[in-house]
Amino acid sequence: MIRAALARGVSGVAAALLCALPAAAQPLPPNELGRIMVLEYHKIDYPEERWTRTPENFRRDLETLYARGYRLQNLNAVLDGKITVPAGTTPVVLTFDDSSPGQFRYVVKDGKVEIDPKCGVGVLEAFIKEKPDFGRGATFFVLPGASRPNRLFDQPEYEGKKLQFLVSQGYEIGNHTLWHANLGKYDEPTVRGQIAEAQVWIRRHVPEYQIRSLALPHGVYPKDLSWAQSGTAKGTTYKTDAILMVAGGASPSPFARMFDAFRIPRIQAVERDLTTWLGYFEKNPSERFVSDGDASVVTIPSGKRDKLKSLPPTLKVLER
Ligand SMILES: [Zn+2]
Repeated sequence: MIRAALARGVSGVAAALLCALPAAAQPLPPNELGRIMVLEYHKIDYPEERWTRTPENFRRDLETLYARGYRLQNLNAVLDGKITVPAGTTPVVLTFDDSSPGQFRYVVKDGKVEIDPKCGVGVLEAFIKEKPDFGRGATFFVLPGASRPNRLFDQPEYEGKKLQFLVSQGYEIGNHTLWHANLGKYDEPTVRGQIAEAQVWIRRHVPEYQIRSLALPHGVYPKDLSWAQSGTAKGTTYKTDAILMVAGGASPSPFARMFDAFRIPRIQAVERDLTTWLGYFEKNPSERFVSDGDASVVTIPSGKRDKLKSLPPTLKVLER
């Protein structure tokens, strides 16, 4: 009797739990005016703390995102409005700041050089292999001229190999200045020099690579925004298409009038903020960007046309 009641009780709880989960199971209608999470990771290492996510927790983040219908999209694709994730799913952008060693490490195993399965890239690559429909992408905002251990992931002998691997595998490299300069503190030549020189140093390893985005060290803007946007310094010309902040929540859709490529907010990928934002979108699914699966069509809820920015004629708008 008691056993049967317990069994009923347990299955009741299980049923209740299942009922509490369905947001991921029910297909969401497309809404390409919804918001996108740009997640900001720092160290992937031990122990878990303010600026560190353990490899296990990072893996769990990927599992959670996947289970809740998020799919990887590169930042540049978002900037270009080329949302290619499947219909009914939500793009999510991964970013990694400061090129710390745990983000990307090579180890020698049985005489062979391989990616450490416990580093950020190792965890990500393994997960993508298991779930190819998760997509592929992440932007690494590296520091080519920082002191150790933040100088290009802290293995001088593999610096070039790492940057070349990232580019060849569809990841992006972003500018985070030469050595993490607080851009608000410096004059124009220094600000421009920091951005230009970072590009020069990165291109020593990946000569043709176009760096399109800048993550502000400490989240601090230069005194004049235009210094970060484009210019020439240290014999090189740079052009920044996007500037990322260090906080601010989920980003507006790139199709929204509110979207400002030079003020893209991010969500720090720490337990509390991730839980808050994932919970927010579970409770407010209409706030969430949901793809229609067609990169040439922008599907929006009816009556929301005034929220759209002006779009290139190649993009068709569909109200649902
Ligand atoms: Zn940083």
